[in-house]
Amino acid sequence: MFGDEAGLPYQRPPLSKTFLKEGHPERLLFRNADFFAANGIEIQSNTPIASVSPSERSVTTERGNTYHFDHLVLATGTRNRQLPIPGFNAPNVFGMRTLEDASRIRDRLEMTSEIVVIGGGFIGLEFTAAAKQLGKKPTVVEAQDRLMARAVSEPVSEFFLAAHRRNGVDIRLRQTVLAVETDSSGNAFAVRLSTGERVFSDLILVAAGVVPNCELAYAAGLKIENGIAVDRTMLTSAPNISAVGDCVSFPLGDRRLRLESVQNAADQARCVARRLTGAVEPYDKLPWFWSDQGADKLQIAGLIEHADKLVAKRDDETGRLTVFGFSAERLCAVETVNRPGDHMAARKVLSASDGIMLADLEASHYRLKEVFRTVARP
Ligand SMILES: Cc1cc2nc3c(=O)[nH]c(=O)nc-3n(C[C@H](O)[C@H](O)[C@H](O)COP(=O)(O)OP(=O)(O)OC[C@H]3O[C@@H](n4cnc5c(N)ncnc54)[C@H](O)[C@@H]3O)c2cc1C
Repeated sequence: MFGDEAGLPYQRPPLSKTFLKEGHPERLLFRNADFFAANGIEIQSNTPIASVSPSERSVTTERGNTYHFDHLVLATGTRNRQLPIPGFNAPNVFGMRTLEDASRIRDRLEMTSEIVVIGGGFIGLEFTAAAKQLGKKPTVVEAQDRLMARAVSEPVSEFFLAAHRRNGVDIRLRQTVLAVETDSSGNAFAVRLSTGERVFSDLILVAAGVVPNCELAYAAGLKIENGIAVDRTMLTSAPNISAVGDCVSFPLGDRRLRLESVQNAADQARCVARRLTGAVEPYDKLPWFWSDQGADKLQIAGLIEHADKLVAKRDDETGRLTVFGFSAERLCAVETVNRPGDHMAARKVLSASDGIMLADLEASHYRLKEVFRTVARP
């Protein structure tokens, strides 16, 4: 296993959540070194792969060493989107992708009070909530008219907008950062907004989305379509090369999808591992996702963007929310806030059956666990 980062493979989700508050990089590791050694897995960290030759069935490292393979799996992930704005390269303007990024941000946070977050998506908002818990003053600048617009329904965006504002976070919707202003030593001290306003800041986090790392695959002649294009079994256009995770676009129904989630990366990896050990099966796992923002836990089962109708059930007293998404009257996604039991039931309902209709849910008064018992019955 070749990777261009230092150290052993680790989990990214805590980077924008607990790690900022608690540190402890060792807790992020998937496995310790003994596991890899005991299972005959050789890890080559700090070893970027510079090229792939499908015809020679080999990869070559940046240092010029060539290794042959019977089968290659590309899991190159994504990188942070760069913004073409003046001042973007100042040392206190950060992205949040790697343990190295998060460690630098943690160090800087200690001497920081005012923060600007560019992008009101999952990572920007998780970071904001953690920074607020650490006593900082974050301002979030989001170009769209709602938070997390790419991935969640309007009721969920509204829920989190209200929650962050209640918590004292300054959130600017429909505004963009036109420039980062730097002092004579090159450090950023403010951003200039599209409204003309200036917001002072000692730390700027750019969380404005990612781009898939496809260059290696593209240079090797593999098909690219908003990610490394794979078929239903995660095979690329080359017969000896598979691809999985954030860097991949895969067919689902009549469209192609690229997802950035742990579930997707892990289930696709399992699909390839099974194929390579003899069990060929199409990838058809239900997408699910979570995001922890301060005290609120968002969980999503299915893809809400496929819904043409939404039903939101909100309990103002408990601060819980469930949003049901329907496509042609059929349940296709469920978003829950602070309802982990419903999320698990939704995953079961959506995986176990392709036919939960709006009428079924209405009849059960939207009790997902009850509906699951009905569909699970043989
Ligand atoms: C801060 C943060 C918070 C997140 N929170 C959540 C969450 O709450 N829930 C959730 O479901 N998902 C979350 N995610 C997304 C999740 O971490 C990703 O979906 C997952 O890591 C994807 O795994 P991957 O293996 O496809 O790619 P990655 O984890 O990106 O790994 C790809 C690796 O390949 C390396 N690489 C790329 N090119 C080369 C090369 N040429 N040679 C060698 N190495 C190379 C990269 O440097 C990287 O180390 C979060 C991500 C981040 C950054």
